[in-house]
Amino acid sequence: MVKSMTTPPATKKATVPTRSSDRPNVQRPGEESVPIMKMRPTIKYEADRVRGFGREIMSVPGCEQLQSCIQCGTCSGVCPLSIYMDHTPRQVMALTRADFKNEVLRSRTIWLCASCYACTVECPQEIRITDIMYELKQRAILEGIFPKRFPIPILAYDFSEMVKKNGRITEMILVIKLFMKTSWLAALGNWRLGIDLIKTGRFSLVTEKIKHHGDIARMMDAVDDQKGS
Ligand code: SF4
Ligand code: SF4
Repeated sequence: MVKSMTTPPATKKATVPTRSSDRPNVQRPGEESVPIMKMRPTIKYEADRVRGFGREIMSVPGCEQLQSCIQCGTCSGVCPLSIYMDHTPRQVMALTRADFKNEVLRSRTIWLCASCYACTVECPQEIRITDIMYELKQRAILEGIFPKRFPIPILAYDFSEMVKKNGRITEMILVIKLFMKTSWLAALGNWRLGIDLIKTGRFSLVTEKIKHHGDIARMMDAVDDQKGS
């Protein structure tokens, strides 16, 4: 019997992806998983400094001691969240003092800081690291520099706006605003909890206000004015 002379099916030509976007991040059998790295320059240039930024921060009451940081790293060692931070607390202190304003205000570290005060308690130079983190967060909010759709700065901003307006917050409205500005999917995942909180009276559906709330607004505005907003 004679085999028919048909053209063999074209074999698929193996192509080597050249760009990282061409390579699906999938582990194949026998392959080691290599996560795609985000490259970031680690060198700081003189031109990146914003002269006077460190001095400005150190002029805020409570932040003066930053000048005496000896870069011992105790703050980073005791910080429970430093392993998740892009810059450790020690690095944030050094970058702030050295005027690297943009690097510090764009860092996720200031938003991950949980204000546990462990660093402040342990610092041998009695530097109030947590208060400095607060000051940096406030600066980032005032200048509108924070990661897009990152819940913490959005919550902080809406919280203070609500207190200015009504003298206190209404949790329900605050949470709805937060979900609208960050992730609707998260809201869907938490709807049952929301209903339970309303049922037990923990969430009010009515805007809550205190008497003389204008006085609080004036106080908050005075603080903002002092910071040059
Ligand atoms: S513990 Fe204090 S002195 Fe040491 S690096 Fe941190 S801020 Fe600086
Ligand atoms: S206050 Fe913030 S920076 Fe300091 S140890 Fe706690 S989480 Fe870390």
